Amino acid sequence: MSESNNHKRILVTSALPYANGPSHIGRLTGAYIPADIYVRYQRLMKRDIVYICGSDEHGVPITIQAEKEGVKPQQLVDRYHAMILDEFTRMGISFDHYSRTSAPIHYETAQDFFLEVYEKGILKKKTQQQWYDEKAAMFLSDRYVEGTCPICQNPEARGDQCEKCGTYLDQMQLINPKSKVTGTAPVARETTHWYLPLGDFQPALEKWIGEKTHWKDNVLNYCKGWFQQKLEDRAYTRDLEWGVPVPKTDRKGNPIEGAERKVIYVWFEAVLGYISATKEWAKKIGQAERWRDYWQKEDTKLVHFIGKDNIVFHAIIFPAITIAYNQNHRKDDTYVLVSEIPACEFLNLEGAKLSTSRNYAVWVKDYLEKFPPDPLRYTLTSILPESKDSDFSWKDFQAKNNSELADILGNFINRSLTFTVKNFDNKVPAPGTFAQADLDMLSEIKQAQKETGEFIEHFRFRDACKRFMDLARAANKYFNDSEPWKKIKTDREQCATTLYVSVQIVRALAVVMLPFIPFTAERVWRMLNLPGRAEDQDWSKIAESTVESGHSLGNIEIVFTKIDDDVIQKEVDLLNATIEKKAAETAAATKAEPVKPAIPVDDFMKIDLRSATVLHAEKIKGSSKLLRLELDLGYEKRQVVSGLAKFYKPDELIGKQIILVANLKPAVIYGVESNGMVLTAGNDETLKLLMPERNIPNGLRVS
Ligand SMILES: [Zn+2]
Repeated sequence: MSESNNHKRILVTSALPYANGPSHIGRLTGAYIPADIYVRYQRLMKRDIVYICGSDEHGVPITIQAEKEGVKPQQLVDRYHAMILDEFTRMGISFDHYSRTSAPIHYETAQDFFLEVYEKGILKKKTQQQWYDEKAAMFLSDRYVEGTCPICQNPEARGDQCEKCGTYLDQMQLINPKSKVTGTAPVARETTHWYLPLGDFQPALEKWIGEKTHWKDNVLNYCKGWFQQKLEDRAYTRDLEWGVPVPKTDRKGNPIEGAERKVIYVWFEAVLGYISATKEWAKKIGQAERWRDYWQKEDTKLVHFIGKDNIVFHAIIFPAITIAYNQNHRKDDTYVLVSEIPACEFLNLEGAKLSTSRNYAVWVKDYLEKFPPDPLRYTLTSILPESKDSDFSWKDFQAKNNSELADILGNFINRSLTFTVKNFDNKVPAPGTFAQADLDMLSEIKQAQKETGEFIEHFRFRDACKRFMDLARAANKYFNDSEPWKKIKTDREQCATTLYVSVQIVRALAVVMLPFIPFTAERVWRMLNLPGRAEDQDWSKIAESTVESGHSLGNIEIVFTKIDDDVIQKEVDLLNATIEKKAAETAAATKAEPVKPAIPVDDFMKIDLRSATVLHAEKIKGSSKLLRLELDLGYEKRQVVSGLAKFYKPDELIGKQIILVANLKPAVIYGVESNGMVLTAGNDETLKLLMPERNIPNGLRVS
């Protein structure tokens, strides 16, 4: 899969962060740390590479947040754009350019794409019913409306998606809808929108993704799930004030009827932000047309680093818009499709789900007030959720800092350089004859360079990180086994050889560590007193012994400081306090939730509740929330779909007895038929199954 060798240039993008709040470690982990490692490595490989990102500044969550804070959307995004960029910079994320989707150049790009597909007649204009808030005099797009999910009965489903069962909803499917603006019940009113008929592109998309056999399973499975459900028309526009306006005229100057007060749906323009940002970058470097090399030449390798929640937009929607744009278009103005989507799963925190709304997170700006960036970069890389969700814990962070960065990497660098400074007048000694151990160590550098690089090339960042640390491990062992502190008295020449080799290793380490912990790499480079910067070096020459005998070293400092138990305990206590506070609030809020209107007992008797045992449970492909359950009701077996995947592992459910709503009309969810609903209590974060207090026969009626 080392396709970069067949490509002339690489364009790397990280998901555009949403400019409605500060960054936490979950955000960093998914799309930025791995991308930055990849980019820094490719730069050291002297490849032609550009790294692009920017803030995503449109969409309903921005306007809702702005209303909450009593500011204009532009003021809100100005503030968070600056904050997010500052956090990234301090964490060493080395974008070539960081733009924003409220930039004029982005409006041009997004409108150009709209007009191209509009003028080709690809977009369908449809008049459909939408929820309208009469009090606020506005249509309720996306999250402006909430109601009960028709699939799982979650009372807080949003207009675009039910977070509990993961189903993407049409807002008109919501039961008992409520406006988020005024709290009133909206009325159905007709509005006209343009739709992209995604279904028309399904054959082309399926064929194209069919060739991506080397893509990660999570990405391929999500796509298969979507294809199975059949792609449907997706509204390209919204009734909103804030966003990229639908152009009022086409490119010939003819008016576009119905364009007033309509904006392009955020997900149809945000992905184009990568293109706008590349255009801005090209202008910045004084070669305004240079962006075309990266977007419009087929020998570009386009790599999108994203989290799994963005897979559909990068693997299906963006490619579909691009295919639509390219159709019957001048050959010199068509766009490349993505080559690689190394999507990450999610990062949890101390065993629980990260949550910005509950303030259950490690915020980047808080972290940076207390610790340097590199130990966090290193820890997050070593636990990167590459193929499944993973967990960050402060104890683990402390262990990685103290026993790996400080005890292995830092220790080797400090002891070998300090020993050289003390015993050889601050100069790299001339080596004597190399013994086998010295030669072995030098070839281990070569091996580490090769293997670390291959892992990065294949998006296996955890393995790459471990391989680089293994070089430091081998170096420590070499230093111990060579015993220079004894040899200095008995065999000065042998001691000199050990230190000569050690200095070469330190130099190699400075370059190998750079993609992972760039700040430390540059510090070590300065300690070596070598010209230029570590980031200017050539990865392929890491193993060459280029620090000459007689070279004077710089000031040697401690590379990593150990973190004490009480410092870590403070962080753990802080998180626990957040959980306790939120739990108390949730309990109070639930108690206060008004009881639904009274119903006659006959209505309740219509519901047929039965006991059943789980025979089999498995995850549903393409959904992170749903499980398919096979149930034994005694008199028959049943299949149901339930939104339990976040709370229970399939294995732990098998054999458990549950209560089933047995007479719900069947529904098809993610292509799987569901015949009933399993009773649960709690909300999105605390869901629990209801079970009989002791085992009872299956199929018993519950009342
Ligand atoms: Zn639902």
